[in-house]
Amino acid sequence: MNASTAAFSATVTTAVTAPCAVYEVDGRSYAVDSREFANVVAQAQACRRRLRCMCQAGGVEMYVARLAPAQGGYIVKRMPDTGWRHATHCPSYAPPAATSGLGQLLGSAILEDPANGVTTLKLGFALSRMQGRVVAPTSEGSGTSVRSDGATLSLRGLLHYLWDQAELARWHPDLAGKRSWGVVRSHLLEAAGQLVARRELLVSRLYIPEPFSVDQREALYARRLAAWSCAAAERAGCAALMLLIAEVKEIVPARYGFKAVVKHLPDQAFMIDESLYRRLGRAFETELALWATGEDVHMIMIATFGVSGGVPSVQELCLMPVTRQWLPVDDGFGKQLVDKLVAQRRAFTRSLPYELPAKVQRAFAVLSDCGNLPATLSIVRGDQAPPDAGAADTDAVAPGWLWHAHLEPLPALPARASADAGDAARDQEAAGGMAPVPVLRDFGPDAGRTGSPAGGSGAGSTP
Ligand SMILES: [Zn+2]
Repeated sequence: MNASTAAFSATVTTAVTAPCAVYEVDGRSYAVDSREFANVVAQAQACRRRLRCMCQAGGVEMYVARLAPAQGGYIVKRMPDTGWRHATHCPSYAPPAATSGLGQLLGSAILEDPANGVTTLKLGFALSRMQGRVVAPTSEGSGTSVRSDGATLSLRGLLHYLWDQAELARWHPDLAGKRSWGVVRSHLLEAAGQLVARRELLVSRLYIPEPFSVDQREALYARRLAAWSCAAAERAGCAALMLLIAEVKEIVPARYGFKAVVKHLPDQAFMIDESLYRRLGRAFETELALWATGEDVHMIMIATFGVSGGVPSVQELCLMPVTRQWLPVDDGFGKQLVDKLVAQRRAFTRSLPYELPAKVQRAFAVLSDCGNLPATLSIVRGDQAPPDAGAADTDAVAPGWLWHAHLEPLPALPARASADAGDAARDQEAAGGMAPVPVLRDFGPDAGRTGSPAGGSGAGSTP
């Protein structure tokens, strides 16, 4: 039996996830919902053959990655930093990496290998803890001079990368009301499933609370204990740390020290020591002010934590406010612009800064509904200089729209192109972006791209 045949047989029980499009392999075209597609993908992976997304004349090359055994199946992915080569209506479209902080990290802190589908991350924070060690919170202004060389990822850089990979920084009006915490969680876990850090699958250290349900309380508790077991073990005074991504409910004084209470985990808070708590207020002053004043702002926390005596305690953390649509914003101006874009039913991608310090400007967002050439949107705050050439060093975007936020009200946005042939593709994208191909085995109850609509946009729907 040759490799292709073996792959063919394997697909009888294998799932394929691919952006909704038409693909060409060896001169033949296949739609993702065609019967042969799953087998074609498995064969392409076995033979290291590339697919071409046919959203553009001549097609855009894509590769097939095999998912981790826990998930199983295959995923069709774009080649590193080629999202901008796709048509703006294609679900594989992404702005050039240079329009966000991703540009300086690709090839250094983030190494994507299309040959095996694995992305290796170089982390700039600890995933183990020596007894008695004190760690500072990760934020802008603390340690940015170390991180801005792009050699490693801080907690913020990792969170931004996961958010981008999970397509959560991208918005289309048809997604309104379809992003619940369950959907956010499943997208993040799927994205993490192909990431390796310190020779370990990142997902094995990642804990994201499952949507809480009173009926499922016991089962949720058991799964949480199992997930935390690697952090509970301690050897020679050194303990493994877990990564937490969760929505913060409150960070408040406890009977002793301080605690972070996160949503969907009503029976277990995370301990925070006093010095970390004090530094939080300074390091995340803008983010906390936005959260305090905006009813429809969720606060996302990424943290490393250890477990001692069954109690989790935070070692290092980073905060990221997001809107009702789970789109990251850094301050009131950013939220104002995102709210306007959403209200005007625009399609766009938030350009996340990753490791870039605040003084280095990149686009705030890239509009993808302006026709063939996407447009960058930038906010200039106070006496900041306008975005540097990093955002405009490619002819794949039209630079231009600037908002001097301290000097003027929000200007009119660039015009949207009239309805075009991309509408059908956008409708498909709205159905989940990465449409599952008809398969014989699903990824499991919590891994679907469409997820559960329970909770609507998620605001106020959690315990
Ligand atoms: Zn495409």
